[in-house]
Amino acid sequence: MRILKFGGTSVGSAARMRSVADLIQSSEPRIVVLSAMAGTTNSLVAIAKLLFEGEIQAATSQTEILRQHYMMVARELLPEPAIAEEAISQLGTCFKTIFGLMRQPLSASGERVILAQGELLSTLLFHRYLTAIRGQEAVLLPALEFMRLDANDEPDDAYIREHLTQQLAPHTAQALFITQGYICRNAKGDIDNLKRGGSDYSASLIGAAAGADEIQIWTDIDGLHNNDPRVVEGTYPIRELSFDEAAELAYFGAKILHPSSVLPARQYNIPVRLLNTMQPEAPGTLISSKTGSEAIKAVAAKDGLVAIKIKSSRMLLAHGFLRSVFEVFERYRTPIDMITTSEVAVSLTIDDATHLTEILAELRDFGSVEIDENQTIICLVGNLIQENHGSARLVFNALGDIPLRMISYGGSPNNISLLVNTADKMRTLKALNAGLFQRQIFHSDASDD
Ligand code: ASP
Ligand code: MG
Repeated sequence: MRILKFGGTSVGSAARMRSVADLIQSSEPRIVVLSAMAGTTNSLVAIAKLLFEGEIQAATSQTEILRQHYMMVARELLPEPAIAEEAISQLGTCFKTIFGLMRQPLSASGERVILAQGELLSTLLFHRYLTAIRGQEAVLLPALEFMRLDANDEPDDAYIREHLTQQLAPHTAQALFITQGYICRNAKGDIDNLKRGGSDYSASLIGAAAGADEIQIWTDIDGLHNNDPRVVEGTYPIRELSFDEAAELAYFGAKILHPSSVLPARQYNIPVRLLNTMQPEAPGTLISSKTGSEAIKAVAAKDGLVAIKIKSSRMLLAHGFLRSVFEVFERYRTPIDMITTSEVAVSLTIDDATHLTEILAELRDFGSVEIDENQTIICLVGNLIQENHGSARLVFNALGDIPLRMISYGGSPNNISLLVNTADKMRTLKALNAGLFQRQIFHSDASDD
């Protein structure tokens, strides 16, 4: 079994859906996981927000605009009027669900039902197109029947495996399945989702549950790049990454892949291939248990961090100090990204500042506390520590006089993290690009993008 996931841009119009239909042709069994069409989830988020604010009129007209848009796409994708009208009436059930939720004040679970409609709409349309226009046999698998969260809101692997197997069982002769990314049910059985960008995670969970031999994530860029293409010129796709390297890059800013999606693939050792719908023949990025040979492969940046420094004389020669500090973050369920320590102080970063005030109040019991907001983590990923002496020198030479707030090296063999002011992010990325990758550009085959 092979899993092919297509993102919002890849299914963003009738023309894009036709290209996806070309790309999935194969005699091998495969499950195609689709996102909502580009822009749809954002619209649904906006509609729910209007409803929370009591703006029923505005929510109604925004939903009506979305409905008109889908009618237009349906007519374009399904050029036979009878087929188009039938599809429009099927799509209509999704819009009826949304309009139905406007009669009473919106609840959080109502919002999740609204958000789920995007993937239901895209898969319905695509499946109709495949079967009715291209005459291809394909089964529409309802993700809400097998994607499930447990009581901790984590994917319930055993449930997913059992129920996906049940859904596939009646169709032994079938080779092509279409299903929704992102949407699921929670432990109570209510409609829920895997958070924004979660379709990648769906694909990986489905791949793990189905024992897939490969998971393909199709987007509109040719793989994970060595640096942020929005900031730096001349970036190139990295051909091979290990699961650990990919997880670090996805978490620290490379927007192309949902960070959690590496985990199920790594657990079952299923290679993940990142491919480009606009350039299907390009090799993209292969994420597997193998690590390539280059020392520093890529740089990514994550904004929005707060650095907190706790300075305490109690830390000197004491044990249990760090535990007490971490317990504060634990109590507020706030993850820590980066940590550095000296004998009398500890600095750490968080990206979720929801409970910052309470956390700071508790930390003040330990000593003096300072914070720096608007910080950016620059994450360097590669095969950095064991075999490659001199990576650190290359990095520091490249950085020149850019001020660094924190440095973390040695936490894993694949990562060096630097914390800089967000105001210095652009020049840091550019300096690292010039110092680390410029040499490689000349012999990389990257100029094909
Ligand atoms: N449609 C959802 C979103 O826009 C999930 C996804 O595309 O991965 O976040
Ligand atoms: Mg995405």
